[in-house]
Amino acid sequence: MINIKSKSELEKMRIAGKITGGALELAGRSIRVGMTTKELDRIIHNYIVSHGAKPSFLGYGGFPGSACISINDEVIHGIPGKRKICEGDIVSVDVGAYINGYHGDSCKTFAVGQISDEAAKLMKVTEESLYKGIEKAVVGGRLGDISHAIEQHVVTNGMAVVKKYVGHGVGRELHESPEVPNFGREGHGPRLVAGMVIAIEPMVNAVGEGVKVLPDGWTVLTQSGSLSAHFEHTVAITPDGPVLLTKPD
Ligand code: MG
Ligand code: MG
Repeated sequence: MINIKSKSELEKMRIAGKITGGALELAGRSIRVGMTTKELDRIIHNYIVSHGAKPSFLGYGGFPGSACISINDEVIHGIPGKRKICEGDIVSVDVGAYINGYHGDSCKTFAVGQISDEAAKLMKVTEESLYKGIEKAVVGGRLGDISHAIEQHVVTNGMAVVKKYVGHGVGRELHESPEVPNFGREGHGPRLVAGMVIAIEPMVNAVGEGVKVLPDGWTVLTQSGSLSAHFEHTVAITPDGPVLLTKPD
């Protein structure tokens, strides 16, 4: 069942989203060569907690960090730890904040220093594909319109969307119905109505859609060893068009 949020629920989700977006913005400003992913996680954790919220991911299914930090060929669910961030890395930071009974969920891939042209193009195309999807998050459309727009942009640019992991509804639960795949057919899937809130989150591999999971049970890598990028916003569907709840401002 897809939960439709009332105006007052959307106001609460805006607060959770703002903290999520603020934490992510701080992560972008804080990221440095030589820093460990655990240090970056600590900064994000402290920001969320100091704003009266809880990190949504901490303890979720047993996840040991407050953020998922995934570097280069890591797609998602990287566990913060001793790994040091290096010049030329691309670092995907996925953050969730929970407050007043609601979650926000957002992710961004950051470039560290000078990155390769391939990495820059991957990041650009992935972020663009997120906005192509968001444009289709309108009342009267279908979920498949969002999925199709994302896939189309990625494939046109010679890259691959990850199919094993998908976006999702967000609200009282971090993961709610419906699933929001980054591939699909226009005009298909659930009808989009005002009050739906979904996390749109293209995960894009430079080469091939295949992924594998490390023995740690969490970290997802590209099968090919190629780079991967990930951008996500929590988006409310409203009569006035899509509203990005996880913008920091
Ligand atoms: Mg996320
Ligand atoms: Mg998500």
